[in-house]
Amino acid sequence: MANVRIDPSDHSTNRMTGSRAKLCRYDELPVWKKIYMCPHVVSGYMTDLSTLQCLKSTYRLSNETGNVLTHVVPAVAFLILGLYDHHVTIPGRHGDDMDYVISAIYSIICQTLLLSSATYHIFTPHRCRSVFTLGLGLDLFGIVLTILAVLATFVAYCFKCSMFWRMFYQILCVTMLIPYAAMFLHPKYRFHWVRPENRLVGIGPPLAILSFAFIAQSYLYHGGWGSDTAWIYPARCFRNGGIYIAAFLLFHIKNIPQVWFPGRFDYVGHGHQWWHLAVVLGLLDWRDALFVFQGIQQQSLSC
Ligand SMILES: [Zn+2]
Repeated sequence: MANVRIDPSDHSTNRMTGSRAKLCRYDELPVWKKIYMCPHVVSGYMTDLSTLQCLKSTYRLSNETGNVLTHVVPAVAFLILGLYDHHVTIPGRHGDDMDYVISAIYSIICQTLLLSSATYHIFTPHRCRSVFTLGLGLDLFGIVLTILAVLATFVAYCFKCSMFWRMFYQILCVTMLIPYAAMFLHPKYRFHWVRPENRLVGIGPPLAILSFAFIAQSYLYHGGWGSDTAWIYPARCFRNGGIYIAAFLLFHIKNIPQVWFPGRFDYVGHGHQWWHLAVVLGLLDWRDALFVFQGIQQQSLSC
C-alpha cells in the first residue's frame, strides 16, 4: 500500500491517489483539469499522481493508455523507417548530401513530435498544474516545430540552387519558433493569456503570410505552375492541410465517436487517438513529398 493514500483535502469524493489508485470519472477530476479534458470521455481517468507514479502508471490501463501507445509505437516505427531510408532508400535513389541531411531532419522532428506528445499524455494524471501545463506546452511546441520544419525542408528543395532564398526563409522559420517556445514553455507565460491549445491558432496568420510569400517566390523563381517544383508545396498544403482540418473538426471539435457512443470509447478509440493517427498519416505524407522532390530534382535540376 506504499503508493496509495487518501487525499485529506478532497472530502467530496474521498478520492484515492497513487499508482494503485482507482480510476475516476470526468466529474471527479479537479476543476482546473476539467477544462483540458473531454467531458464526453466519461471514465478511465487517473489523477493526483506524483511524477514517479505517472511513470509507473504507463503500465496501467486508463483512458491515456491509447494516447501514449498511438505515439510511442509510431515513434519506434519512424526510427526503423529513418534507418531504412538512410541505408536503403536514399542510396538506392543515388541521393546527394542534402537528401541525407533532410532525411535526418525529418527523422529527428518525427521523434520530437511523437515523444513530446507521449510525454504530455504520460504526465496528464499529474497532481501539479505546472507539470501538466509544461507537458501540454511541449506537445503544442512539437506541433509548431513540425509545421515550420515541413516548410523549411520544402524551401531547401525549392531553392536548392539559391543560397540566399534558402537562408532567407529558413531564418524566418527559426525566428518564428522563438515566440512559440516562450509562450508554450516559459513558466511566466504558460499560465497566463488564453488556453495553450487556443494559442496554437496564433500560428495560422504568420504561417499563412510566410507560406504565401514562399509559394509566390517559388512560382516566379521556377517559371510558373508548369514547374513541378513550384507546384508541390501548395499541392501538399491542400492535401495535408485537408487531412488535419478534417481530423481536427471530427475528433476534436465534434468529439466523434465518444459523443455518439458515450462511455463506449473511453479507453480505446476515442477521438483524440484518431487525431494522433491523422498526425502519423501527415508525417508519412511529408516523407512521401520529400521523395517526390528528390525524384523531380534528379530529373530536372542541376545547379
Ligand atoms: Zn495527444
